[in-house]
Amino acid sequence: MSNEEKSVGQALEEKLLTKRKNGLLEVDEAEIERADAFCEGYMKFLDDAKTEREAVTASIALAEANGFTPYEFGKVYKPGEKVYCNVRNKSLILCVIGKNSVANGVKIVAAHIDSPRLDLKQHPLYETSDFCLLKTHYYGGVRKYQWVTIPLALHGVIFKADGSGVTVNIGEDENDPVFTITDLLPHLAQEQSKRTLAEGIKGEELNVMIGSRPFKDDNVSEKIKLNVMKLLNEKYGIIESDFISAELEVVPAFKAKNVGLDCGLIGAYGQDDRVCAYPALEAILDCDNPDDTAVAVLTDKEEIGSVGPTGLNSDYLRHFLESLADMADVPAYSVIRNSKCLSADVSAAFDPTFTDVHDPRNASYCNYGLAMSKFTGSRGKSGCNDSSAEFVSYVRNVFDENKVLWQTTELGRVDLGGGGTVAAYIGNMDIEVVDVGVPVLCMHSPFEVTSKLDVYMAYKGFSAFIK
Ligand code: MN
Ligand code: MN
Repeated sequence: MSNEEKSVGQALEEKLLTKRKNGLLEVDEAEIERADAFCEGYMKFLDDAKTEREAVTASIALAEANGFTPYEFGKVYKPGEKVYCNVRNKSLILCVIGKNSVANGVKIVAAHIDSPRLDLKQHPLYETSDFCLLKTHYYGGVRKYQWVTIPLALHGVIFKADGSGVTVNIGEDENDPVFTITDLLPHLAQEQSKRTLAEGIKGEELNVMIGSRPFKDDNVSEKIKLNVMKLLNEKYGIIESDFISAELEVVPAFKAKNVGLDCGLIGAYGQDDRVCAYPALEAILDCDNPDDTAVAVLTDKEEIGSVGPTGLNSDYLRHFLESLADMADVPAYSVIRNSKCLSADVSAAFDPTFTDVHDPRNASYCNYGLAMSKFTGSRGKSGCNDSSAEFVSYVRNVFDENKVLWQTTELGRVDLGGGGTVAAYIGNMDIEVVDVGVPVLCMHSPFEVTSKLDVYMAYKGFSAFIK
């Protein structure tokens, strides 16, 4: 039916009613090709940056290759200059100085680079039943049963008593060994199978297999543990007590993969929230001579409440904004209260198998574009930033004007659960903020799934916001 042949009702329907559509049916082939090309870089980033520290290192390398230099507090920068501020090696602020005075506020995109994982305890190493294992304490919201019987890698840093540090990365190279957590065979799991899913694997059962061969000496009691420590000492120069001042993270050892015959999806560990952090990073790297100063924040500690000096509940972003104010000789409050922010974090994608956890009218769908969440929280929006209608109107207009496919989202059915993001902490600073991000299937699992089109729309959306 052509335009002229539309019935009155059809024309009215088109004008008045909201229709949600699969984005793949809305964009042309060239746009899909751009999305696929963008995601090649994203998938490499996923493999290179499985921890917050690795994400900072990888992001700085990309930033320096794009003309960014280390930010010096107190120095005066000119419009167009590109800087980055390394926050204790675990968070990163990137900034492009704008033409307008910072007294007009800055545009911020904030994503997080920590992900749920298993951290080693401070006394991790022990020998039992002719094996050597590592005790862990999980970080963030993990479903513990998902972390057994998969290949695992060990990433992190160890600082020795003399203050010198070593970087650890075992399990990623093709020639590296991997680690794993054992689980029962079904034949002997009758008792275990009666546990609830939440208790199916308990926290103290997340013990990582790290060795099985003894150091042959009858005068030694813990021969396998000694052999493991000897190998670690040869490789890293550490002794057992150095675990006390280490941050070692156990993460899935597999790499990012295309999912589906049509390769439309990406499966990988750590997409919450690299799926927003990488587009935010690319958006700021591509940002040249913006009107307002543009800022991308890649933060640590979101998964455990944005706490500590590398989390956004601390003052590190405020201090950076204050220094921009000092540089321009304007009051810090004018910079802060006039700023605008996208809190870039993932949303729960509508799951085709577990459909009843969602309100289908308000869920986000894979391939429907960047998802905006006016509020998060739980039990009546508690603990969240509930964005103002004015600011949501501003952001939707930016997206529409720049042909960004976007949708709205809410985290599941009312009272089923909930969650939060950094938006609450940024809002508390007196900055207008709204959550936007990429829908994720299997969120917080070792193998999270996203749509390539949505990842690209995140990049387009963030770019449009800060340009
Ligand atoms: Mn997140
Ligand atoms: Mn999360």
